[in-house]
Amino acid sequence: MGFQPDIYGLPASGIAAVQAELLREAVRYAALASPFYRDRFAAAGVDAAGVRTLADLARLPITSREDIQRRSRDAWAVPRERVAEIVATTGTTGAPLYVAMTDADLRRLGENERRGFTWMGAKAGDRFHIAVTLDNLFVAGLAYHIGLAMVGASAIRVGAQPARRHLDLMRQLRPDGLVAVPSLLLALARQARADGEDLEAFAPRRALLIGDAIRGADLRPNTLGRLLGAGWGGELFSTYGLTEAGLAFHECPAHRGLHSHPDLAIVEVLDDAGQPVPDGETGELAITNLQVEGTPLIRYRTGDITFRVPGECPCGRGGARIGPILGRKQQRMKVKGTTIYPKVIEEALLSVDGVENFVIEAHTGDGDTDRVVVRVGTLRGDPHFSRTVGEALYAKARVTPEIRLASPAEVDGLLFEGGRRKPRVFVDLRKAPGGSR
Ligand SMILES: [Zn+2]
Repeated sequence: MGFQPDIYGLPASGIAAVQAELLREAVRYAALASPFYRDRFAAAGVDAAGVRTLADLARLPITSREDIQRRSRDAWAVPRERVAEIVATTGTTGAPLYVAMTDADLRRLGENERRGFTWMGAKAGDRFHIAVTLDNLFVAGLAYHIGLAMVGASAIRVGAQPARRHLDLMRQLRPDGLVAVPSLLLALARQARADGEDLEAFAPRRALLIGDAIRGADLRPNTLGRLLGAGWGGELFSTYGLTEAGLAFHECPAHRGLHSHPDLAIVEVLDDAGQPVPDGETGELAITNLQVEGTPLIRYRTGDITFRVPGECPCGRGGARIGPILGRKQQRMKVKGTTIYPKVIEEALLSVDGVENFVIEAHTGDGDTDRVVVRVGTLRGDPHFSRTVGEALYAKARVTPEIRLASPAEVDGLLFEGGRRKPRVFVDLRKAPGGSR
């Protein structure tokens, strides 16, 4: 069937019809070419030829990353000669997953980003400063590179560099857009201030931001988004990418959630029992990849918690939209009947004046509840400060964890314990941590 770049303009029934046909193709292909899915469908008693409509999706087994890891290369559906790239997940949880991509998969990867860039206003002749890594088996940098070529824009392949190098290149090459993680924008704004430079004079006016969410569950800028708005000023477009799916979702200029690309993937948001939850309710994002050759994914549980944004987007584009990623499923904590993710606590702490740094700990509590301890690094000698933090947490996150004040240096010691290079903000000390409940 091929790419359907105009699919967003179809009525919901038209989008569903296209997806049903692509689902039939994807399931038949997986059953035929992927030893992993052939066995999985057989074990679940699923006849691939019997999958006809989107409703049939619910009959297919759900796949987790661990399922695939157990049979890694069996999940590859093409012989070695057809593998054009091997990419890998970053392995934030467990071992990395290696994903085979064919030439056609690379075109799909580029087409996906072409749409995202076009929505943020990119056009032929534009220049984009790419500040994410393009090596180390990382798929996103590659995706941006191919996508920009499809737009007719040029890529300035900077990758991970010191802030000064980014600023010098921007000043010399005057890019129209930027691709980065949000924290880099903060670092660049800080560097420019320290060096007495006017960022506005040469910084790109549009940024595509991968990684941390810049909007909260209400789709308005969160603390990070507000900091970026103040330090940067250009228009910020959020994106969510999933390495193993060679897939990204994008914001449109309305900034009302992340649009999926209905001819490239089917989106579900599932509860713990694997049942779809209503729009607006949080659950685990599951992806069924369409038009993929190298490594098919059918009803793949991502571990990421989000929700489907209800209603139509003001931009008029159809298809599913998701909210920001609110956390990882295995980081879910239960405090007195309230479900909470570390990201939400993090978000609330970032907004409290006087909080220098922090570590969030989950301990096994009594019965069905977890004991959450927040160690806050502060220079405030005020004995009431822990109450101020507690009130802010309750107001923003509806939880009342234990708060322990410490010096920023002590908290730094915890964040970088064991000589780690990246700070560990969330520490899971529960006896049976992760998704067992
Ligand atoms: Zn939109």
